Amino acid sequence: MQFELTDEDRMIQDAARDFAQRAVAPGAAQRDRDEEFPADIVRQLGELGFLGVKIGDRYGGAGANNVGYVLALREMARACAATAVAMAVTNMVADAIEMFGSDEQRDRWLKPLMRGDLCAAAFCLSEPEVGSDSTALRTTARRDGDCYLLNGTKSWVSSGPHAGLNLIFATLDRSQGARAVTAFVVEPKTPGLTIARVEDKMGLRGSETAQYVLEDARVPVANRLAGDGEGMKIALGVLDGGRIGIGAQSVGVGEAALAEGVRYAKMRKAFGQEIAGFQALQWMIADTATELEAAWLLTLRAASLRDTGQRVSREASMAKVFSSEACGRAVDRMLQIHGGYGYTRDYPIERLYRDARVFRIYEGTSEVQRLVIARALLKEQ
Ligand SMILES: Cc1cc2nc3c(=O)[nH]c(=O)nc-3n(C[C@H](O)[C@H](O)[C@H](O)COP(=O)(O)OP(=O)(O)OC[C@H]3O[C@@H](n4cnc5c(N)ncnc54)[C@H](O)[C@@H]3O)c2cc1C
Repeated sequence: MQFELTDEDRMIQDAARDFAQRAVAPGAAQRDRDEEFPADIVRQLGELGFLGVKIGDRYGGAGANNVGYVLALREMARACAATAVAMAVTNMVADAIEMFGSDEQRDRWLKPLMRGDLCAAAFCLSEPEVGSDSTALRTTARRDGDCYLLNGTKSWVSSGPHAGLNLIFATLDRSQGARAVTAFVVEPKTPGLTIARVEDKMGLRGSETAQYVLEDARVPVANRLAGDGEGMKIALGVLDGGRIGIGAQSVGVGEAALAEGVRYAKMRKAFGQEIAGFQALQWMIADTATELEAAWLLTLRAASLRDTGQRVSREASMAKVFSSEACGRAVDRMLQIHGGYGYTRDYPIERLYRDARVFRIYEGTSEVQRLVIARALLKEQ
């Protein structure tokens, strides 16, 4: 494996960094305070190709690879975690359509999605009673002529109120577990689909997270992605990429926290000197920088392996669990460096601390990632 970025990687990284620092970072605190979804920014991400970093030129994506994707996402997360989530989930849905859709479906949905015309896309797997065990879905899909009728509740839908496209997973038969899960592309104006609530969250407050209720929502057969019963294959296929993406988001937020901690330590004085001179704080800074570097290498390795076409569930889980936990330690230590001021809304570290907490929960909790890793190892030996 190479540790050097290619010229193309650098171009993507530079373009993402430039946009993130110029257009995304300045409003991050205000959007968090006002719970404002970054709709305009997301549309601009489309113009730059960042809503489909791996989607080909033909459909208006950036035509890059998984390494390009994590480079861009890390920059976005360093500027604003809520914006990064909207970008990441839209990329996941775009990947699903590209990997599993027919030519007609790709033409129909990818082009407007990549242009930013649909704003964001949403990935609807979780339900009020189903999170870690996604094979136990309760939302049903029943065939009715040339349509399916969808019934149930989908929870935790990131970007839900702004999504121009939803990838919804439902079961054809609850007793069949994973084998009956089927994926549908559902447009937001579909009769029978309503937004029942928007969560009042601790962090990522600029990323609106919705609950959908489906009551006989009529979805044409033409909107089914792949075949009956192929939904779990789609979900797991894109979740590998999603988990690597959370590795990148964790590194981005961790690096933002580190920068805030270092800045504060050089500014604040105690006992007649800069607090940066105290060894106890230097160790926090050193450990954080080292752990984030390790997290980035695991993330980059998983992305690079995925570019070879291999199945990388184990590597993706390693990147996610290590990076999200390293990020958790990073925001905690950097808040400690801020002393009492870290506990107020006057400094960005307070927002970063709240935003980081979810990385250990969504797209599979830390416990679930450890299960994936252990199962793979136990199977091998
Ligand atoms: C802000 C936010 C955004 C989200 N966005 C989306 C989205 O866009 N789309 C979507 O589909 N979902 C989304 N989610 C849902 C998220 O993926 C789930 O919350 C997550 O998978 C965990 O499921 P759960 O909350 O039901 O927890 P549960 O599955 O109920 O788990 C509760 C606890 O039990 C533990 N646990 C469960 N099973 C095991 C086991 N076998 N071994 C050990 N421990 C176990 C878990 O680790 C956890 O600690 C989002 C969640 C949040 C908070």
